[in-house]
Amino acid sequence: MSTSSTARLFATYAAASLALVLLLGAVLVVSMRGEAERRGLAQGTTEALLVEQTAIEAHLDGRSFYEPLSTSEVATLEVLAQHSVSTGEILRIRLRNLSGKVVWSDDGSGYMGTPDDEVLDAAKGETVALVTKLNTDSVDVGPEGIDGVEVYAPVHAGASKRRVGILEIYLPYAPIAADVDAGMAALYRDLVLCLAILWLGLFGVSYYLSRGLRRLVQLNRYLAEHDTLTDLPNRAAFQAFVTAAIAADSGPIAVAIVDLDRFKEVNDTLGHQYGDHLLAELAHRLSDHIRGRDRVARLGGDEFGIVLRDATDPETALWRVRELIESEVRIDGLPITLNSSIGYAVSPSDGVDCDTLLQRADVAMYVAKSRHVGVIRYTPGIDHNSTANLALLAEMRRAIREDELVLHYQPKVSLDDERVVALEALVRWEHPIHGMLAPDRFVPLVEQTDLIDDLTAWVLARALADLVSLGDDHEHLTVAVNVSARNLARHDFATRVAATLGDLGVAPRRLVVEITETALLADPGRAAAVLGQLSELGVRVSLDDFGVGQTSLSYLSTLPVDELKIDRGFVTDMTHDLTHAAIVRSIVELAHNLSLSVVAEGVETGEVSDALRRAGCDLAQGYLFSRPVPITALRAVLTASADAVLLRS
Ligand code: C2E
Ligand code: CA
Ligand code: CA
Repeated sequence: MSTSSTARLFATYAAASLALVLLLGAVLVVSMRGEAERRGLAQGTTEALLVEQTAIEAHLDGRSFYEPLSTSEVATLEVLAQHSVSTGEILRIRLRNLSGKVVWSDDGSGYMGTPDDEVLDAAKGETVALVTKLNTDSVDVGPEGIDGVEVYAPVHAGASKRRVGILEIYLPYAPIAADVDAGMAALYRDLVLCLAILWLGLFGVSYYLSRGLRRLVQLNRYLAEHDTLTDLPNRAAFQAFVTAAIAADSGPIAVAIVDLDRFKEVNDTLGHQYGDHLLAELAHRLSDHIRGRDRVARLGGDEFGIVLRDATDPETALWRVRELIESEVRIDGLPITLNSSIGYAVSPSDGVDCDTLLQRADVAMYVAKSRHVGVIRYTPGIDHNSTANLALLAEMRRAIREDELVLHYQPKVSLDDERVVALEALVRWEHPIHGMLAPDRFVPLVEQTDLIDDLTAWVLARALADLVSLGDDHEHLTVAVNVSARNLARHDFATRVAATLGDLGVAPRRLVVEITETALLADPGRAAAVLGQLSELGVRVSLDDFGVGQTSLSYLSTLPVDELKIDRGFVTDMTHDLTHAAIVRSIVELAHNLSLSVVAEGVETGEVSDALRRAGCDLAQGYLFSRPVPITALRAVLTASADAVLLRS
């Protein structure tokens, strides 16, 4: 509800309540008018009865009016009438017998004609009063003339109280009305006062209620449009702003999405409070920097949105934003530096509606992040794969939760006797639509996000559970799990591994962690620390795809590594490529010099296998021995291998 609509509602309410109060007032006034008239008549009746008792009854001798009045009675009446009529106390006075016939009147009128109903009622003992109009000099009752009260009352005989006749008397209404009006005026005043108080009360209550409501509406709207942590507009408000900007501007508008790199790490290692501080500080910087018609918003998590209007050079502006974010933040004296990845799209060339622009900026941001390029603008084709990739990533959470992932195992065999001594767990995704997906299709994507932690945790738990399920006959087997560089960035990685081993009751020496040489080089210090913790647990460490990176010998010698895996690029063709054969031989030599065991992967032929054996390689892995197979097929592979060993021995 907007403020103006609340104000409108309020005004309508005030008017409606006023109308109701006025209506109530009108009804009361009408009923009071009736009351005034009733009072007037009652007063007239009282006066008439007074005349009847004091002037008529007292001066007549109690005979029925059917008998003629005596001369002295008539004389007394004449005197009384003369006096009262001349002073205006009485307008007219008549006496009638019980049949209604006039037997005396002050002006000699009314002896003819049939009596009215009121006369007959009075003959039965009732006193009837009505307001009437009359001319003082005539008996005619009509619309003209002065207001009077016309009263018909029975006349009683002295002590016997017998009805002897009827008194018909006309009293002036003005003095009665004046009396009554004086009383009513006070009532009207009170009524007006009460109604005014009533309305003001209603008005006041509704005013305060609606003011409270208005404030609530404003607060609700603020909360609905803002992020509470940073006070920046939220995603919904941002989208509304972009839509409005597109409608209003003819010039180019840039919509950018800014995503912090490694923010989750800060959150996890230093705690949420630091994370919140950091976000608030960056939000502050951004909103200070972005001014005028531009806007910054928090889209959620560690993601900000920026709209630049009249965007003639958004690239420069956004690099400046990136620098702002990059400059050190100090929290409790602790210096923190974060990078960000920014993707943007420009209307109208990259899209003419908010959804398209945001989605394209998002794709560009994703590309910026995966290529570590800082700021990148959306171009058609940039998302050739990215859109599909984003969709896959979005589905990964479900895949992990609903066990769409499966592990295949590939044996590592001893080159001495071709006995299976170890297994490598390799993940696949049984995608409900795309079918079985190879890890190369999704692992590199997942590695760009924190989802890799969930994926690795899943693989680890499943591989260890499968190892246990193989039973005591295979107690000598170890299982290798592939670990990404990002996993090692988590400070509690080793703790989690230890917990999983403990939960499943697997001895740490039966687990091998495979980490690629290049992943190690991403953050050598951090990697060395985590590998140290794992090794201390008793978990073994294998350097995967060895030979492609350029690990210095001195660094290698400090790492707690147990095994080197020669990259299959050197192995598969070593019988044809002399250089590769030489590399394989020197890696074997190096490994042995450092007392490490060495595995050759990608062994597809017997010739290669023989060459490796001659070179002194310990273990081999490859299609020659077995392709990666599901756990059900693995049992057959293990049995066949054991049988072959038995046959040879
Ligand atoms: P990798 O760790 O080097 O795994 C060995 C890859 O070589 C596997 O491919 C395997 O199927 C393949 N291979 C085995 N023997 C032969 C052979 O004789 N010839 C040839 N040409 N290839 C052979 P896969 O299963 O497609 O895995 C590809 C990569 O995906 C793995 O390379 C690994 O880096 C990654 N990956 C697989 N599973 C996981 C996982 O659970 N976590 C992580 N982080 N990465 C994984
Ligand atoms: Ca591997
Ligand atoms: Ca490998």
